[in-house]
Amino acid sequence: MTDAPLPPGSTIGILGGGQLGRMMSAAASRLGLKTHIYNDTPDAPAFHVAAKTSVGAYDDLDAIAHFAGQVDVVTCEFENVPAAALEAAGAAAPVFPPVKSFEVAQERLAEKDFISGLGIAVAPYAGIDTLSDLKEATLRIQPPALLKTRRFGYDGKGQARIHTLCDAESAWESIGEAPAILEGLVDFERELSVVTVRGRDGAVRFYDVVENVHKDGILHTSTVPARIPPALEKEAKEIAGKIAEALGHVGIITVEMFQRGGAAPALAVNEIAPRVHNSGHWTQDACLVSQFENHVRAICGWPLGDVTRHSDAVMTNLIGSDAEGWRHYAAEPSTAVHLYGKAEARPGRKMGHINKISPKT
Ligand code: AMP
Repeated sequence: MTDAPLPPGSTIGILGGGQLGRMMSAAASRLGLKTHIYNDTPDAPAFHVAAKTSVGAYDDLDAIAHFAGQVDVVTCEFENVPAAALEAAGAAAPVFPPVKSFEVAQERLAEKDFISGLGIAVAPYAGIDTLSDLKEATLRIQPPALLKTRRFGYDGKGQARIHTLCDAESAWESIGEAPAILEGLVDFERELSVVTVRGRDGAVRFYDVVENVHKDGILHTSTVPARIPPALEKEAKEIAGKIAEALGHVGIITVEMFQRGGAAPALAVNEIAPRVHNSGHWTQDACLVSQFENHVRAICGWPLGDVTRHSDAVMTNLIGSDAEGWRHYAAEPSTAVHLYGKAEARPGRKMGHINKISPKT
């Protein structure tokens, strides 16, 4: 592979056809780049805005290899892409982010071990394979605690709360007795994230730290600037940079953190996402170059774009029937509406978001 940037007219292959792939594809088009999107079902929101589409299973390695053979670089819009699919794609085209970023982010125990191995604070945790592991860890970590499946958890799914030792058995059953981790519940003041981009040449840039509010386990709002002192903003970015560097990451990586109340150290990392992230959607309207464009730039070997925030912003997700209010949002001043083109508004489904912009404070 050459280090020369992919010129306009090149094609980016994206594994995954959800809203993240859709917005990545739109950003690529601004740079004169095309996208070819691979998804396991034909009703993919990203298919509406792609030059080429393929439907196939993520474990159909021949189909993945064929897809990768038609593009100049491959990336992913979700982290649970099977390792074999990344390998099959990698034999035909360069794949960014690197496999290591996915391996770490796909498995909560590996993720916690990796992050704490870098000397970065995380919640107290233990790997759980049996009910007796869980009982023992519950005694050690002390409830309240959260039992989370190691794989395939997102938006609070695959999680059970443990308030007392008596909850261990029902929690274990409720997550299907799958390999898990137990995490002590962090008494946090606020949740933060750092959307970070790292280029193929190792250059790193950070968007401003975001303050996130979740509702029913799903991101509800992301606000910038976060209400934190400059020293904490700097520390959060340093943590994100350390993780991106240690992974040799290329593209956007998002590091989610808790700001603890009271005792030091103030920040503890919750998890990492080796991709563009919902908490970075505000960058579309409050920065010159969005997270989506910067991901595209990074994987294509382009110079990274300006991450400076020119406005304050509040991003609000439109979940389920919220999106029915599109007319109202479209008429609101200083508000950008982003809809994902999904036909059916099921409860809990991300249908779109709005970015409300105000002058930078
Ligand atoms: P996760 O799937 O790990 O991102 O968890 C989803 C949400 O659950 C987080 O954004 C937090 O609001 C909450 N959460 C997860 N882990 C913890 C923890 N150890 N302590 C407190 N809250 C947590």
